[in-house]
Amino acid sequence: MKKGKIFVVGFGPGDREHITKRAVDALQQSDHIIGYKTYVELIEHLVTAKKIVSTGMTEEVSRAQEAVKQAEAGHIVSVISSGDAGVYGMAGLVYEVLIERGWKEETGIAVEVVPGISAINSCASLLGAPVMHDSCTISLSDHLTPWTVIEKRIEAAAMADFVIAFYNPKSGRRTRQIVEAQRILLKYRSPETPVGLVKAAYRETQKVILTSLSDMLEHDIGMLTTVVVGNSSTFFYDNKIITPRGYQRKYTLGDEQQIWKPHQRLKKEAEPWALDQVTGEAKTGYEKIETIKSKPIKLKTQEPPNTKQNQKIISEKSSVEMAQMALSRVKGETIKADFIVQQKIESIFEFAVSPGVSNKTITPKQMQLLAEVVGEDGQLEYTPDHRFYVKIPTDNPNNVIEKLKGSGLYVMPIGDVLNLKACDFCYGEKAESIPYAEEIMETLGGMKLPKELHVGFNGCGMACYRAVFDDIGIVYRKKKFDLFIGAKPVGRTAHAGQPVAEGLDPEALVPLLTKIVKEYKENAHPNERLFKYFKRVKKIAHFTYQDMSSKIKIEEAPCGD
Ligand code: SAH
Repeated sequence: MKKGKIFVVGFGPGDREHITKRAVDALQQSDHIIGYKTYVELIEHLVTAKKIVSTGMTEEVSRAQEAVKQAEAGHIVSVISSGDAGVYGMAGLVYEVLIERGWKEETGIAVEVVPGISAINSCASLLGAPVMHDSCTISLSDHLTPWTVIEKRIEAAAMADFVIAFYNPKSGRRTRQIVEAQRILLKYRSPETPVGLVKAAYRETQKVILTSLSDMLEHDIGMLTTVVVGNSSTFFYDNKIITPRGYQRKYTLGDEQQIWKPHQRLKKEAEPWALDQVTGEAKTGYEKIETIKSKPIKLKTQEPPNTKQNQKIISEKSSVEMAQMALSRVKGETIKADFIVQQKIESIFEFAVSPGVSNKTITPKQMQLLAEVVGEDGQLEYTPDHRFYVKIPTDNPNNVIEKLKGSGLYVMPIGDVLNLKACDFCYGEKAESIPYAEEIMETLGGMKLPKELHVGFNGCGMACYRAVFDDIGIVYRKKKFDLFIGAKPVGRTAHAGQPVAEGLDPEALVPLLTKIVKEYKENAHPNERLFKYFKRVKKIAHFTYQDMSSKIKIEEAPCGD
Protein backbone atom coordinates (compact mmCIF):
# COMPACT_ATOMS: atom_id res chain seq x y z
CA MET A 1 0.00 0.00 0.00
CA LYS A 2 1.25 3.47 -0.86
CA LYS A 3 2.33 5.35 2.21
CA GLY A 4 0.85 8.77 2.86
CA LYS A 5 2.19 11.95 4.34
CA ILE A 6 1.45 14.18 7.30
CA PHE A 7 1.94 17.90 7.09
CA VAL A 8 1.85 19.60 10.45
CA VAL A 9 0.95 23.10 9.41
CA GLY A 10 1.23 26.30 11.40
CA PHE A 11 -1.00 28.79 9.63
CA GLY A 12 0.14 31.90 11.52
CA PRO A 13 -2.05 34.32 13.44
CA GLY A 14 -5.12 33.72 11.29
CA ASP A 15 -5.33 35.99 8.26
CA ARG A 16 -4.54 35.21 4.66
CA GLU A 17 -1.59 37.58 4.48
CA HIS A 18 0.40 35.93 7.24
CA ILE A 19 0.26 32.33 6.20
CA THR A 20 3.29 30.99 4.34
CA LYS A 21 3.20 29.79 0.76
CA ARG A 22 4.37 26.37 1.84
CA ALA A 23 1.49 26.15 4.30
CA VAL A 24 -1.04 27.00 1.58
CA ASP A 25 0.58 24.45 -0.76
CA ALA A 26 0.41 21.78 1.93
CA LEU A 27 -3.24 22.50 2.64
CA GLN A 28 -4.07 22.39 -1.06
CA GLN A 29 -2.28 19.09 -1.60
CA SER A 30 -4.03 17.42 1.29
CA ASP A 31 -6.84 14.91 1.05
CA HIS A 32 -7.69 15.49 4.69
CA ILE A 33 -7.45 18.47 6.94
CA ILE A 34 -7.63 17.84 10.64
CA GLY A 35 -7.91 20.54 13.22
CA TYR A 36 -9.76 22.41 15.88
CA LYS A 37 -13.10 23.72 14.62
CA THR A 38 -12.36 27.44 14.81
CA TYR A 39 -9.05 26.97 13.05
CA VAL A 40 -10.51 24.85 10.31
CA GLU A 41 -13.03 27.61 9.69
CA LEU A 42 -10.23 30.14 9.47
CA ILE A 43 -8.46 28.32 6.65
CA GLU A 44 -11.39 26.56 4.98
CA HIS A 45 -11.52 28.99 2.06
CA LEU A 46 -7.94 28.09 1.17
CA VAL A 47 -8.42 24.37 0.69
CA THR A 48 -10.02 21.92 -1.61
CA ALA A 49 -9.61 18.87 0.64
CA LYS A 50 -12.18 16.17 0.26
CA LYS A 51 -12.46 15.56 3.93
CA ILE A 52 -12.21 18.02 6.75
CA VAL A 53 -12.15 16.68 10.27
CA SER A 54 -12.78 19.35 12.83
CA THR A 55 -12.80 18.45 16.46
CA GLY A 56 -13.18 20.13 19.80
CA MET A 57 -10.43 21.94 21.60
CA THR A 58 -9.60 19.17 24.03
CA GLU A 59 -9.43 16.35 21.52
CA GLU A 60 -5.87 16.97 20.45
CA VAL A 61 -4.67 13.43 20.98
CA SER A 62 -7.46 11.95 18.95
CA ARG A 63 -6.73 14.47 16.19
CA ALA A 64 -3.11 13.34 16.07
CA GLN A 65 -4.16 9.69 16.09
CA GLU A 66 -6.65 10.24 13.32
CA ALA A 67 -4.00 12.00 11.23
CA VAL A 68 -1.55 9.12 11.60
CA LYS A 69 -4.25 6.59 10.81
CA GLN A 70 -5.26 8.40 7.62
CA ALA A 71 -1.68 8.90 6.49
CA GLU A 72 -0.89 5.25 7.08
CA ALA A 73 -3.85 4.43 4.89
CA GLY A 74 -2.07 6.30 2.09
CA HIS A 75 -3.62 9.75 2.34
CA ILE A 76 -2.02 13.15 2.45
CA VAL A 77 -3.12 14.76 5.68
CA SER A 78 -2.64 18.23 7.12
CA VAL A 79 -2.90 18.68 10.84
CA ILE A 80 -3.26 22.36 11.55
CA SER A 81 -2.25 24.61 14.41
CA SER A 82 -2.54 28.34 14.72
CA GLY A 83 0.73 30.23 14.85
CA ASP A 84 3.54 27.73 14.68
CA ALA A 85 2.65 24.07 15.05
CA GLY A 86 5.81 23.53 17.09
CA VAL A 87 4.88 26.11 19.74
CA TYR A 88 2.24 24.62 22.06
CA GLY A 89 0.83 23.14 18.86
CA MET A 90 0.21 19.78 17.21
CA ALA A 91 3.75 18.95 16.07
CA GLY A 92 4.88 17.33 19.31
CA LEU A 93 1.69 15.33 19.66
CA VAL A 94 1.90 13.96 16.14
CA TYR A 95 5.45 12.78 16.79
CA GLU A 96 4.44 11.27 20.13
CA VAL A 97 1.71 9.21 18.45
CA LEU A 98 4.14 8.14 15.73
CA ILE A 99 6.82 7.17 18.26
CA GLU A 100 4.33 5.09 20.15
CA ARG A 101 3.83 3.12 16.95
CA GLY A 102 7.56 2.61 16.40
CA TRP A 103 7.68 5.03 13.47
CA LYS A 104 11.07 5.71 11.84
CA GLU A 105 11.64 8.36 9.23
CA GLU A 106 13.30 5.96 6.82
CA THR A 107 10.56 3.38 6.71
CA GLY A 108 7.47 5.17 7.93
CA ILE A 109 5.12 7.74 6.48
CA ALA A 110 6.56 11.13 5.53
CA VAL A 111 6.20 13.93 8.03
CA GLU A 112 6.75 17.60 7.30
CA VAL A 113 6.37 20.34 9.88
CA VAL A 114 5.55 23.58 8.10
CA PRO A 115 6.62 26.57 10.22
CA GLY A 116 4.28 29.47 10.89
CA ILE A 117 4.37 32.87 12.57
CA SER A 118 3.89 32.24 16.27
CA ALA A 119 1.85 34.56 18.51
CA ILE A 120 4.98 36.00 20.12
CA ASN A 121 6.04 37.32 16.73
CA SER A 122 2.68 38.43 15.37
CA CYS A 123 1.73 40.12 18.64
CA ALA A 124 5.14 41.78 18.97
CA SER A 125 4.78 43.27 15.52
CA LEU A 126 1.54 44.97 16.57
CA LEU A 127 3.11 46.36 19.73
CA GLY A 128 6.24 47.84 18.18
CA ALA A 129 9.45 45.99 19.02
CA PRO A 130 8.96 44.59 22.52
CA VAL A 131 10.77 41.28 22.07
CA MET A 132 14.06 42.35 20.52
CA HIS A 133 16.27 41.06 23.32
CA ASP A 134 16.47 37.68 25.06
CA SER A 135 12.94 36.47 25.51
CA CYS A 136 10.90 33.41 26.34
CA THR A 137 7.39 32.11 26.03
CA ILE A 138 5.58 30.71 29.02
CA SER A 139 2.21 29.03 28.75
CA LEU A 140 0.06 29.59 31.80
CA SER A 141 -2.04 26.54 31.04
CA ASP A 142 -1.65 23.99 33.78
CA HIS A 143 -3.65 21.28 32.03
CA LEU A 144 -0.56 19.34 31.04
CA THR A 145 2.06 21.04 33.19
CA PRO A 146 2.10 21.21 37.00
CA TRP A 147 1.59 24.76 38.25
CA THR A 148 4.68 24.44 40.45
CA VAL A 149 6.81 24.05 37.34
CA ILE A 150 5.15 26.98 35.59
CA GLU A 151 5.64 29.10 38.67
CA LYS A 152 9.32 28.25 38.80
CA ARG A 153 9.73 29.23 35.16
CA ILE A 154 8.01 32.57 35.70
CA GLU A 155 10.25 33.22 38.68
CA ALA A 156 13.41 32.32 36.75
CA ALA A 157 12.46 34.34 33.68
CA ALA A 158 11.48 37.32 35.82
CA MET A 159 14.72 37.15 37.74
CA ALA A 160 16.86 36.83 34.61
CA ASP A 161 15.24 39.84 32.96
CA PHE A 162 13.78 38.00 29.99
CA VAL A 163 11.08 39.62 27.91
CA ILE A 164 8.18 37.19 28.43
CA ALA A 165 5.27 36.29 26.16
CA PHE A 166 2.56 34.53 28.16
CA TYR A 167 0.47 32.17 26.08
CA ASN A 168 -2.84 30.76 27.34
CA PRO A 169 -2.96 33.44 30.01
CA LYS A 170 -6.57 32.96 31.03
CA SER A 171 -9.70 31.04 30.20
CA GLY A 172 -13.20 30.76 31.62
CA ARG A 173 -12.05 28.43 34.37
CA ARG A 174 -8.40 29.38 34.70
CA THR A 175 -8.40 32.92 36.03
CA ARG A 176 -5.97 32.71 38.93
CA GLN A 177 -2.81 31.93 36.94
CA ILE A 178 -2.30 35.38 35.45
CA VAL A 179 -2.81 36.95 38.89
CA GLU A 180 -0.08 34.72 40.30
CA ALA A 181 2.17 35.48 37.34
CA GLN A 182 1.80 39.20 37.96
CA ARG A 183 2.58 38.74 41.65
CA ILE A 184 5.80 36.89 40.87
CA LEU A 185 6.88 39.39 38.22
CA LEU A 186 6.37 42.30 40.61
CA LYS A 187 8.99 40.78 42.89
CA TYR A 188 11.61 41.50 40.25
CA ARG A 189 10.28 44.15 37.94
CA SER A 190 9.09 47.66 38.38
CA PRO A 191 5.29 48.14 38.43
CA GLU A 192 5.74 50.51 35.47
CA THR A 193 7.22 47.80 33.26
CA PRO A 194 5.48 48.06 29.88
CA VAL A 195 3.02 45.27 29.10
CA GLY A 196 1.22 44.65 25.82
CA LEU A 197 -2.04 42.70 25.62
CA VAL A 198 -2.81 41.50 22.13
CA LYS A 199 -6.06 39.72 21.51
CA ALA A 200 -6.76 37.90 18.25
CA ALA A 201 -3.81 39.34 16.37
CA TYR A 202 -4.51 39.75 12.64
CA ARG A 203 -8.08 38.52 13.02
CA GLU A 204 -11.30 40.50 12.79
CA THR A 205 -11.63 40.93 16.54
CA GLN A 206 -8.03 42.10 17.04
CA LYS A 207 -7.46 44.33 20.06
CA VAL A 208 -4.18 45.81 21.24
CA ILE A 209 -3.75 47.33 24.69
CA LEU A 210 -0.66 48.98 26.11
CA THR A 211 -0.55 48.86 29.87
CA SER A 212 1.87 48.32 32.71
CA LEU A 213 2.72 45.43 34.96
CA SER A 214 0.75 46.96 37.82
CA ASP A 215 -2.37 47.72 35.74
CA MET A 216 -2.50 44.82 33.34
CA LEU A 217 -5.22 42.93 35.19
CA GLU A 218 -7.63 45.81 34.84
CA HIS A 219 -8.01 44.95 31.17
CA ASP A 220 -9.70 42.15 29.34
CA ILE A 221 -7.44 39.12 29.03
CA GLY A 222 -8.84 35.96 27.48
CA MET A 223 -8.10 32.72 25.70
CA LEU A 224 -6.96 34.51 22.59
CA THR A 225 -4.74 37.03 24.31
CA THR A 226 -0.97 36.98 24.39
CA VAL A 227 0.54 39.00 27.22
CA VAL A 228 3.93 40.47 26.40
CA VAL A 229 5.91 41.74 29.40
CA GLY A 230 8.94 43.94 28.75
CA ASN A 231 12.32 43.62 30.44
CA SER A 232 13.84 46.22 32.76
CA SER A 233 14.90 48.47 29.89
CA THR A 234 11.71 48.27 27.81
CA PHE A 235 10.02 51.62 27.30
CA PHE A 236 6.94 53.20 25.73
CA TYR A 237 7.34 55.47 22.76
CA ASP A 238 4.48 56.98 20.77
CA ASN A 239 2.04 54.16 21.44
CA LYS A 240 4.65 51.51 20.91
CA ILE A 241 6.54 49.24 23.25
CA ILE A 242 10.24 49.17 22.48
CA THR A 243 12.94 47.03 24.01
CA PRO A 244 16.34 48.38 23.10
CA ARG A 245 18.89 46.03 21.59
CA GLY A 246 21.42 46.63 24.30
CA TYR A 247 21.84 47.96 27.77
CA GLN A 248 23.74 51.09 26.86
CA ARG A 249 22.55 54.41 25.58
CA LYS A 250 24.34 57.57 24.68
CA TYR A 251 23.47 61.14 25.45
CA THR A 252 24.82 64.08 23.61
CA LEU A 253 24.08 67.57 24.72
CA GLY A 254 20.76 69.02 23.69
CA ASP A 255 19.79 65.83 21.97
CA GLU A 256 17.40 63.05 22.75
CA GLN A 257 18.90 59.85 24.04
CA GLN A 258 20.30 57.69 21.34
CA ILE A 259 21.58 54.18 21.23
CA TRP A 260 25.05 53.36 20.02
CA LYS A 261 25.52 53.30 16.30
CA PRO A 262 26.35 49.74 15.25
CA HIS A 263 30.05 50.36 14.60
CA GLN A 264 30.43 51.99 17.99
CA ARG A 265 28.67 49.17 19.72
CA LEU A 266 31.21 46.69 18.45
CA LYS A 267 34.07 48.46 20.17
CA LYS A 268 35.34 46.73 23.26
CA GLU A 269 35.33 49.87 25.39
CA ALA A 270 31.65 50.40 24.59
CA GLU A 271 30.87 47.15 26.35
CA PRO A 272 32.60 47.27 29.72
CA TRP A 273 30.31 44.57 31.07
CA ALA A 274 31.33 41.93 28.55
CA LEU A 275 33.05 38.69 29.54
CA ASP A 276 36.80 39.25 29.44
CA GLN A 277 38.23 37.00 26.73
CA VAL A 278 41.52 36.47 28.61
CA THR A 279 40.57 36.18 32.26
CA GLY A 280 37.08 34.79 31.72
CA GLU A 281 35.73 37.30 34.22
CA ALA A 282 32.93 39.82 33.89
CA LYS A 283 33.62 43.25 35.29
CA THR A 284 32.00 43.69 38.66
CA GLY A 285 29.35 46.32 39.08
CA TYR A 286 27.49 45.06 36.06
CA GLU A 287 25.82 42.12 37.74
CA LYS A 288 22.86 44.34 38.26
CA ILE A 289 20.32 41.60 38.34
CA GLU A 290 19.80 41.28 42.03
CA THR A 291 19.85 37.70 42.98
CA ILE A 292 18.00 36.78 46.10
CA LYS A 293 20.71 36.77 48.68
CA SER A 294 19.07 34.99 51.57
CA LYS A 295 19.09 31.24 51.48
CA PRO A 296 16.08 29.46 50.07
CA ILE A 297 13.87 27.52 52.39
CA LYS A 298 11.19 25.00 51.72
CA LEU A 299 7.75 26.16 52.63
CA LYS A 300 4.91 23.79 53.19
CA THR A 301 2.42 24.20 50.42
CA GLN A 302 -0.28 21.99 49.09
CA GLU A 303 1.83 19.11 47.99
CA PRO A 304 0.51 16.87 45.29
CA PRO A 305 0.47 13.33 46.64
CA ASN A 306 3.71 11.36 46.36
CA THR A 307 5.88 14.14 45.00
CA LYS A 308 8.53 15.60 47.12
CA GLN A 309 10.04 17.66 44.29
CA ASN A 310 7.05 19.85 43.88
CA GLN A 311 7.73 21.71 47.05
CA LYS A 312 7.60 25.40 46.56
CA ILE A 313 10.92 27.10 46.96
CA ILE A 314 10.78 30.73 47.84
CA SER A 315 13.28 33.12 49.24
CA GLU A 316 13.31 34.04 52.82
CA LYS A 317 14.19 37.46 54.05
CA SER A 318 15.44 37.84 57.59
CA SER A 319 12.96 39.23 60.05
CA VAL A 320 15.04 42.40 60.34
CA GLU A 321 14.93 42.86 56.58
CA MET A 322 11.20 42.31 56.56
CA ALA A 323 10.69 44.75 59.41
CA GLN A 324 12.76 47.34 57.54
CA MET A 325 10.71 46.78 54.43
CA ALA A 326 7.49 47.16 56.41
CA LEU A 327 8.77 50.35 57.99
CA SER A 328 9.74 51.87 54.69
CA ARG A 329 6.33 50.96 53.29
CA VAL A 330 4.68 52.78 56.17
CA LYS A 331 6.93 55.77 55.54
CA GLY A 332 5.98 55.62 51.89
CA GLU A 333 9.55 55.05 50.74
CA THR A 334 10.18 52.97 47.71
CA ILE A 335 11.71 49.63 48.49
CA LYS A 336 12.49 48.65 44.96
CA ALA A 337 16.24 48.49 45.09
CA ASP A 338 16.43 45.43 47.25
CA PHE A 339 14.77 42.97 44.98
CA ILE A 340 13.51 44.45 41.77
CA VAL A 341 15.75 43.88 38.80
CA GLN A 342 17.65 47.08 38.39
CA GLN A 343 19.13 46.38 35.01
CA LYS A 344 19.76 50.02 34.43
CA ILE A 345 20.51 51.32 31.03
CA GLU A 346 24.07 52.49 31.22
CA SER A 347 24.16 56.00 29.89
CA ILE A 348 27.27 57.49 28.40
CA PHE A 349 27.30 61.25 28.19
CA GLU A 350 29.46 62.81 25.50
CA PHE A 351 30.22 66.46 24.99
CA ALA A 352 32.99 68.96 24.35
CA VAL A 353 34.43 71.53 26.73
CA SER A 354 36.48 74.65 26.13
CA PRO A 355 37.24 77.79 28.11
CA GLY A 356 35.01 79.88 25.83
CA VAL A 357 34.25 80.98 22.29
CA SER A 358 37.33 83.21 22.07
CA ASN A 359 39.05 82.55 25.37
CA LYS A 360 41.87 80.04 25.03
CA THR A 361 43.16 79.97 28.61
CA ILE A 362 41.89 77.52 31.13
CA THR A 363 42.37 78.04 34.86
CA PRO A 364 43.84 75.43 37.21
CA LYS A 365 40.53 75.41 39.08
CA GLN A 366 38.65 74.61 35.90
CA MET A 367 41.16 71.84 35.11
CA GLN A 368 40.63 70.41 38.56
CA LEU A 369 36.86 70.44 38.21
CA LEU A 370 37.12 68.81 34.82
CA ALA A 371 39.30 66.06 36.25
CA GLU A 372 36.80 65.50 39.04
CA VAL A 373 33.85 65.30 36.68
CA VAL A 374 35.64 62.87 34.39
CA GLY A 375 36.72 60.72 37.33
CA GLU A 376 38.22 57.27 37.05
CA ASP A 377 35.66 55.93 34.60
CA GLY A 378 35.45 58.78 32.12
CA GLN A 379 37.64 59.78 29.21
CA LEU A 380 39.21 63.13 28.40
CA GLU A 381 40.67 63.74 25.00
CA TYR A 382 42.21 66.86 23.54
CA THR A 383 41.05 67.40 19.97
CA PRO A 384 42.57 69.17 16.95
CA ASP A 385 39.87 71.84 17.20
CA HIS A 386 41.06 73.15 20.57
CA ARG A 387 38.53 71.44 22.80
CA PHE A 388 38.35 68.64 25.29
CA TYR A 389 36.19 65.79 24.25
CA VAL A 390 34.58 64.26 27.34
CA LYS A 391 32.93 60.89 27.71
CA ILE A 392 31.52 59.87 31.07
CA PRO A 393 29.06 57.33 32.37
CA THR A 394 26.27 59.21 34.14
CA ASP A 395 22.54 59.18 34.58
CA ASN A 396 22.43 62.85 35.37
CA PRO A 397 23.95 64.83 32.51
CA ASN A 398 22.27 68.06 33.62
CA ASN A 399 24.11 68.01 36.88
CA VAL A 400 27.44 67.67 35.05
CA ILE A 401 26.64 70.52 32.68
CA GLU A 402 25.63 72.80 35.52
CA LYS A 403 28.83 72.15 37.42
CA LEU A 404 31.03 72.85 34.41
CA LYS A 405 29.12 75.91 33.31
CA GLY A 406 29.20 77.17 36.87
CA SER A 407 32.97 77.37 36.69
CA GLY A 408 32.83 79.40 33.48
CA LEU A 409 33.60 76.53 31.13
CA TYR A 410 31.93 76.35 27.79
CA VAL A 411 30.03 73.10 27.16
CA MET A 412 29.14 72.09 23.63
CA PRO A 413 27.46 69.16 21.98
CA ILE A 414 29.44 66.92 19.68
CA GLY A 415 28.54 64.85 16.66
CA ASP A 416 26.58 66.04 13.67
CA VAL A 417 26.03 69.55 14.92
CA LEU A 418 27.13 73.07 14.13
CA ASN A 419 30.24 74.05 16.03
CA LEU A 420 32.04 77.34 15.95
CA LYS A 421 35.76 77.72 16.46
CA ALA A 422 36.94 81.27 16.89
CA CYS A 423 40.50 82.53 17.02
CA ASP A 424 42.04 84.13 20.13
CA PHE A 425 41.50 87.64 18.68
CA CYS A 426 45.15 88.31 19.42
CA TYR A 427 44.38 87.88 23.07
CA GLY A 428 41.80 90.61 23.07
CA GLU A 429 43.64 93.14 20.93
CA LYS A 430 41.25 92.60 18.07
CA ALA A 431 38.13 91.99 20.09
CA GLU A 432 35.76 94.03 17.98
CA SER A 433 34.10 91.15 16.18
CA ILE A 434 33.74 88.82 19.20
CA PRO A 435 30.05 89.70 19.76
CA TYR A 436 29.28 88.39 16.26
CA ALA A 437 31.01 85.10 17.01
CA GLU A 438 28.99 84.82 20.21
CA GLU A 439 25.78 85.64 18.40
CA ILE A 440 26.43 82.87 15.86
CA MET A 441 27.05 80.42 18.66
CA GLU A 442 23.87 81.47 20.41
CA THR A 443 21.63 81.26 17.35
CA LEU A 444 23.13 78.31 15.51
CA GLY A 445 25.58 76.56 17.86
CA GLY A 446 24.74 72.92 18.55
CA MET A 447 22.10 72.77 15.81
CA LYS A 448 21.59 69.22 14.64
CA LEU A 449 22.64 68.83 11.00
CA PRO A 450 23.05 66.07 8.40
CA LYS A 451 26.79 66.05 9.16
CA GLU A 452 29.18 67.89 11.46
CA LEU A 453 29.67 71.48 10.36
CA HIS A 454 32.60 73.59 11.53
CA VAL A 455 32.35 77.33 11.35
CA GLY A 456 35.72 79.06 11.61
CA PHE A 457 35.68 82.65 12.84
CA ASN A 458 38.84 84.74 12.62
CA GLY A 459 39.15 88.31 13.91
CA CYS A 460 41.52 89.77 11.28
CA GLY A 461 42.65 89.33 7.70
CA MET A 462 45.58 87.10 8.76
CA ALA A 463 43.03 84.38 9.49
CA CYS A 464 45.75 82.52 11.39
CA TYR A 465 43.25 80.06 12.91
CA ARG A 466 42.60 79.02 9.31
CA ALA A 467 38.93 79.83 9.03
CA VAL A 468 39.24 79.37 5.27
CA PHE A 469 39.78 75.65 5.88
CA ASP A 470 36.51 75.18 7.75
CA ASP A 471 33.15 74.22 6.26
CA ILE A 472 32.17 77.84 6.63
CA GLY A 473 34.93 80.41 7.09
CA ILE A 474 34.28 83.92 8.42
CA VAL A 475 37.05 86.51 8.41
CA TYR A 476 36.66 89.98 9.91
CA ARG A 477 38.58 92.55 7.88
CA LYS A 478 38.26 96.35 7.76
CA LYS A 479 35.06 96.25 9.83
CA LYS A 480 33.42 93.94 7.33
CA PHE A 481 33.25 90.20 6.86
CA ASP A 482 34.62 87.89 4.17
CA LEU A 483 32.83 84.60 3.76
CA PHE A 484 34.18 81.24 2.55
CA ILE A 485 32.07 78.17 1.93
CA GLY A 486 32.74 74.52 1.33
CA ALA A 487 36.34 73.86 2.32
CA LYS A 488 37.34 70.23 2.24
CA PRO A 489 39.46 70.17 5.37
CA VAL A 490 40.85 66.66 5.20
CA GLY A 491 42.05 64.02 2.79
CA ARG A 492 44.36 64.00 -0.21
CA THR A 493 42.12 66.39 -2.11
CA ALA A 494 41.81 68.91 0.71
CA HIS A 495 41.16 72.47 -0.37
CA ALA A 496 40.18 75.82 1.07
CA GLY A 497 36.64 77.12 0.97
CA GLN A 498 35.35 79.11 -1.95
CA PRO A 499 35.41 82.87 -1.24
CA VAL A 500 31.78 83.74 -1.86
CA ALA A 501 31.45 87.20 -0.37
CA GLU A 502 33.77 90.07 0.50
CA GLY A 503 33.09 93.14 2.61
CA LEU A 504 29.83 91.86 4.00
CA ASP A 505 28.01 94.27 6.27
CA PRO A 506 28.33 92.91 9.86
CA GLU A 507 24.60 93.13 10.48
CA ALA A 508 23.93 90.95 7.47
CA LEU A 509 26.23 88.16 8.66
CA VAL A 510 24.02 86.17 11.04
CA PRO A 511 20.89 86.26 8.84
CA LEU A 512 22.94 85.10 5.85
CA LEU A 513 24.58 82.30 7.81
CA THR A 514 21.20 81.21 9.13
CA LYS A 515 19.91 81.00 5.58
CA ILE A 516 22.89 78.92 4.43
CA VAL A 517 22.71 76.54 7.38
CA LYS A 518 18.95 76.15 7.04
CA GLU A 519 19.22 75.31 3.36
CA TYR A 520 21.91 72.75 4.09
CA LYS A 521 19.96 71.24 6.98
CA GLU A 522 16.80 70.83 4.95
CA ASN A 523 18.23 69.63 1.67
CA ALA A 524 21.46 67.73 2.32
CA HIS A 525 21.51 63.94 2.35
CA PRO A 526 22.28 62.32 5.70
CA ASN A 527 26.07 62.33 6.22
CA GLU A 528 26.66 64.75 3.35
CA ARG A 529 29.25 67.29 4.34
CA LEU A 530 28.76 70.91 3.30
CA PHE A 531 31.39 70.84 0.51
CA LYS A 532 29.76 67.79 -1.04
CA TYR A 533 26.35 69.33 -0.79
CA PHE A 534 27.56 72.59 -2.40
CA LYS A 535 29.23 70.62 -5.18
CA ARG A 536 26.08 68.58 -5.79
CA VAL A 537 23.43 71.31 -5.78
CA LYS A 538 25.74 74.00 -7.21
CA LYS A 539 23.98 76.77 -5.33
CA ILE A 540 23.63 77.78 -1.71
CA ALA A 541 21.84 80.98 -0.72
CA HIS A 542 22.60 83.12 -3.80
CA PHE A 543 26.16 81.77 -4.20
CA THR A 544 27.13 79.60 -7.14
CA TYR A 545 29.55 76.74 -6.79
CA GLN A 546 32.98 76.91 -8.45
CA ASP A 547 35.26 73.94 -8.66
CA MET A 548 38.02 74.59 -6.15
CA SER A 549 39.77 71.23 -6.30
CA SER A 550 43.17 71.60 -7.99
CA LYS A 551 43.66 70.27 -11.45
CA ILE A 552 47.39 69.70 -11.00
CA LYS A 553 48.59 66.55 -12.70
CA ILE A 554 50.64 64.38 -10.38
CA GLU A 555 53.96 63.45 -12.01
CA GLU A 556 55.00 59.88 -12.03
CA ALA A 557 57.70 58.87 -9.54
CA PRO A 558 61.17 58.83 -11.16
CA CYS A 559 61.81 55.21 -10.24
CA GLY A 560 58.68 54.26 -12.07
CA ASP A 561 56.69 52.76 -9.23
N1 SAH B 1 0.74 27.47 18.24
C1 SAH B 1 0.30 28.78 18.67
C2 SAH B 1 0.06 28.84 20.16
C3 SAH B 1 -1.08 28.00 20.63
S1 SAH B 1 -1.41 28.19 22.34
C4 SAH B 1 1.31 29.81 18.23
O1 SAH B 1 2.43 29.46 17.87
O2 SAH B 1 0.98 30.98 18.24
C5 SAH B 1 -2.78 29.29 22.30
C6 SAH B 1 -2.36 30.68 22.75
O3 SAH B 1 -1.63 31.30 21.73
C7 SAH B 1 -3.49 31.62 23.03
O4 SAH B 1 -3.99 31.45 24.35
C8 SAH B 1 -2.83 32.95 22.88
O5 SAH B 1 -2.09 33.26 24.04
C9 SAH B 1 -1.85 32.68 21.76
N2 SAH B 1 -2.39 33.07 20.44
C10 SAH B 1 -2.61 32.27 19.39
N3 SAH B 1 -3.07 32.95 18.33
C11 SAH B 1 -3.13 34.24 18.73
C12 SAH B 1 -3.51 35.47 18.10
N4 SAH B 1 -3.95 35.48 16.83
N5 SAH B 1 -3.45 36.61 18.80
C13 SAH B 1 -3.00 36.62 20.06
N6 SAH B 1 -2.62 35.51 20.70
C14 SAH B 1 -2.69 34.33 20.06
